[in-house]
Parts: sequence; C-alpha cells; structure tokens
Amino acid sequence: MIPYDKREGKIWYNNDLVDWQDVKLHVLSHGLHYASCVFEGLRVYDGEIFKLEEHTERFFYSAKRMDIKIPYSQDEINNATKKIVSAQNVKNGYIRPFAWRGSEMMAISAQQTKIHVAIATWEWGSYFDPKLKTEGIKLNISKWKRPSPESIPWDTKAAGLYMICTLSKHEAESQGYTDSLMLDHEGKVAEATGANIFFKDKDGSLHTPIPDSFLDGITRRTVIDIAKTKNIKIIERKINPDELENFVGCFLTGTAAEVTPVASIDKYKFKVCNTILDLSTVIAGPLAGSLIAELGARVIRIETLEGDWMRKGFNGIAPNRTMAGTEGLSINLKTKEGQEILQRLIPKVDVLMHNMRPGAPERIGISFEQARQLNPDINYLYIGGYGSTGPYSHRPAMHPIGGAVSCLLYTSPSPRD
Ligand code: PMP
Repeated sequence: MIPYDKREGKIWYNNDLVDWQDVKLHVLSHGLHYASCVFEGLRVYDGEIFKLEEHTERFFYSAKRMDIKIPYSQDEINNATKKIVSAQNVKNGYIRPFAWRGSEMMAISAQQTKIHVAIATWEWGSYFDPKLKTEGIKLNISKWKRPSPESIPWDTKAAGLYMICTLSKHEAESQGYTDSLMLDHEGKVAEATGANIFFKDKDGSLHTPIPDSFLDGITRRTVIDIAKTKNIKIIERKINPDELENFVGCFLTGTAAEVTPVASIDKYKFKVCNTILDLSTVIAGPLAGSLIAELGARVIRIETLEGDWMRKGFNGIAPNRTMAGTEGLSINLKTKEGQEILQRLIPKVDVLMHNMRPGAPERIGISFEQARQLNPDINYLYIGGYGSTGPYSHRPAMHPIGGAVSCLLYTSPSPRD
C-alpha cells in the first residue's frame, strides 16, 4: 500500500489546492500534541458524495463542541469538498475533512492557535476484507469502555476519542478478531471501534443502543429511516451484553464500514445471510444476483430446462454480465418432481428472490407463506417489473431496466393481455 504521505494529486488545504506531498504541518502543532483536531469521513459512490450536507453539519458541530472555530462557512466547506473530489476525479472513494490547531502556542491553553482545515480524498473500496463482508466479521468485547458523557463531548468526531478505538481495535486484532464491541461507562452495549451496531431479534425487529455516550452515526440514522419505510420495527434502548445470546442477527453501520454483517461477538453467534436462490429472469433480476455474487454471496439460479431465454438472445452475450459469478440449476418447475426439488432447497438458503407474476409462485409452491413454512427465517424478495398489486402486475415484465429506458413495456400491450 502506498503510504498516505506519498500519494499523488491535490489536497484542499486552507482554501488552496496544494500538491499532495507538499501539505506539511509543523511537529509542534497543538493538534498533534493535545488532540485538538476534529474530522469527518464521507463516501463517494459513482461520483456522488453521500450525505455531504449532513457530514459538513456534523463537522461544524464537532468543532463547536471542541471549541474550535472553523474559519469557513458550511457552504464553503461543501463547495471545497465537491471541488477536491472533482480535482482528484474520485468516483468511488472516501473523503476526509479535518480541522486542527496550529503551532502558535504549545501548552494546554490554545486560545491563540490558528485553525487549519484540509480535505483529502482518494479512491477506496471496502473497509473490511470484502470476503468478510459476506461471511460476517468476528468481534471481541473490548476491555476499554466508551467514556461517560460528562467526560468529553462524546457525540463528536474529535480525534482524542479515537485513542480508545485504536486501543480496542489493536487488542481485537492481536486476538484474531476483526473488530471490537465497546461497552459504555455503565457496561451496556455501545458501538464498534468505528461503527454503530444493530441486532435483529427472532421476530425481525431491530434493536440498537441509544447514542447517549457515543456517535449517532449518519449511516445508523439512514438505516433506521430505511427500516421504517419497510415497516421493520426499530427499538432504540439500553442493551445488556448478556442479552446478546437472544439475538439472531447483528450488523455494523458506518461510513467506512457501510453495512457489515457480524458473525459472532465473543461466544455469541449470529446468522449471516449469504446464500441466495434466484428464480428471476431476463435482465434486472439476474444482474442483481450477479452483483451480490460479486460481493461474495453464493447465488444459485434456477432456470427452465432450456435455460433463461436471455441466454439465447444476442448470441448469449448478455448473461456473461447478468449471470456472471452465479451457479445455475435447470429444473422443470411445471412438474411435481421439479417443484419438490425446489422445496427441498428452500430450507437451505437465506434469500429467495423471483420476479414471477402474481399467482405463479403459489402454483409452484413458493409463495411467501409457502416459503415461510419451509424455512421460517427465509428473506423473501419479490422484484417483478410492475409490482405485485398495480394495474400491470399481471404482465410479464421481468426487465424493468429495459422498460424504464424505452417506456415501451409500459405502453405496448403485453403479449398476454
Ligand atoms: N462510531 C464511531 C466511533 C465512528 O468513528 C463512526 C464513523 N464515523 C461511526 C460510529 C459511524 O458514523 P457514520 O455512520 O456517520 O460514519
């Protein structure tokens, strides 16, 4: 790996774009000796900065809580962030804005120090090993605790708070774990070293600690918002470590960590969903399966005896992309024998995904209710082109991408109308 001081390009530094390797600070900077530094971490996906305004807002909040006055407006920092991402041409990466006290004073008091601000960005992939992102990571329980809220502004990204995280992470790594679960000052579950934590109970509800002594992550809030739109119950509460044995699932959330499944915390084990039975056809469904396979999941496609008809189109070129990395199984689902094979597979997988029209799954015994009977833990994903209840739901729209691009599927009469 190229060391971070030896990289190429520019860094936004005190309102200038400076050559990456020329951005220097003096060894007697207050920020270095007394941790008078606050920072942010953002992601860029496909050239778009995720939740820029929220991160900038938190950057200023952290600074204010730490008595650091950033000499720019939030708008200026938003624009500077966009500018450096575009100058560095980062498409999928990470952004690190930070502000620190300079070297005008070298003592606890820092009233006269200059506040410096820099923003660096680089192409970056997964924080955790991508393989572990599908297998699930293993956490220990740290001996270090989050400090009480009276000891420090806990709800900030202040550099000093991360001394505890580095200690915990190193301890975990030296014991063969990927990360560490930190408890709070009262011994309740708090968070991992750079990410928040969620647990799933046997009814599918999500439990997450109240962020009253640690960072209320922007990803955490995003996950809560998404869960609400899916009618998934969210319970924010104090969680005792001995409750961990009652949960069936666990995941971390954070800008760097994204959403990462946890396979175990100390002796407690959690289920990680990584096998998908994909009965979808044509373009969008199989492509979704292929992208998940790329992330490391095992995706088993069920096709007719002749294969998905997309395999024949364009001389079979399209499936090189839409089905890449997946396994295929041809079954005649019109026969009882074929349906039995499928029903024997369902208890062995975590997700069942299809884009059949309403009525079809029932006929072959894989409706949501039937699948649940075979596997009470199944995640059931219906990705039909027109939804299951809308006016066109009876149409065989299996490729919403094509429909969306051309509008043709929506306007032309279906062959089965
Ligand atoms: N807790 C800590 C200690 C963190 O460093 C982070 C990462 N910023 C988080 C939680 C998650 O916050 P976010 O989702 O805003 O990145």
